[in-house]
Amino acid sequence: MGGRTHARRSIHLPLAHGKYTLRGLNNRLMALRIVHYNDPVLRKKGDPVKVFDSSLGLLSEQMVATMHTASGIGLAAQQIGKALQFCVVDLRAADRDFTWELDGAKPPLELFMPLTLINPVVTLLPSEETVYEEGCLSFPDIRGDVFRPDAIRVTYQDLQGTPHTLACDGLLSRCIQHEVDHLNGTLFIDRMEKKVRTGLEKKIKELAKQTREESEAAP
Ligand SMILES: [Zn+2]
Repeated sequence: MGGRTHARRSIHLPLAHGKYTLRGLNNRLMALRIVHYNDPVLRKKGDPVKVFDSSLGLLSEQMVATMHTASGIGLAAQQIGKALQFCVVDLRAADRDFTWELDGAKPPLELFMPLTLINPVVTLLPSEETVYEEGCLSFPDIRGDVFRPDAIRVTYQDLQGTPHTLACDGLLSRCIQHEVDHLNGTLFIDRMEKKVRTGLEKKIKELAKQTREESEAAP
C-alpha cells in the first residue's frame, strides 16, 4: 500500500540503507523492481507457502527494503512479480491511531514490525465501514477513496512457520486488508465506488498502456 501524500498523515518511512548486510555494490540490499498495473501477475492468486527456509528471510528483507525505498507501508509478493501468499507491512512511521492485539498481548509495534505475513487469512469483525484515500505502489500517482470494514482478525504464519493471530483496526487493519487483497488478485481499484473509479479511469488506462509498452520494450 502506498503512503498518502496528504500533509496531515503523510507517511514517509525512513530509508534503511546501511541496516542491511546483503548484496549490492556497497553492501546494501537492493530494492526490487515494483510491478505496475496491469501486469498479469497482479491478478494471480498467490500460491501458499509450504516450505519455511532461509530463502523466505531473504525475500522478506528484500521486500521490506523495496517498500521502504518506495515510501510504502505495505507490499505484496505479486508486486515484485511473485504470486505467493506473502506480504510485508510496516506502520512504525504512521500515526498510531489504531489498536492491535497480537496473540492475546499488546506488544509495542517496534517488536513485530516490519511484519511479514505468510499464508494470511482475514476475518472481518463486526464494525463500521470507514473511508480512506488509499494509494498503491503498483499505481504510481493514483489515489482514491476506498470503504472497508474497520476491524479484522488475521491469522498468518511468520518466517519460521509459527502461526499467529492479530486483531486490529484503523490503518493497520486497512493496510493488511489491502495487502491480503493483492495476494488474492484483488486490487484497490476493484473496491472503489463506481464514481471514484470512473474519475480515475483515464489515469488507470494510461498506466496500463505504459506498463504494456515497457514490457514489450524489455529484452
Ligand atoms: Zn497495493
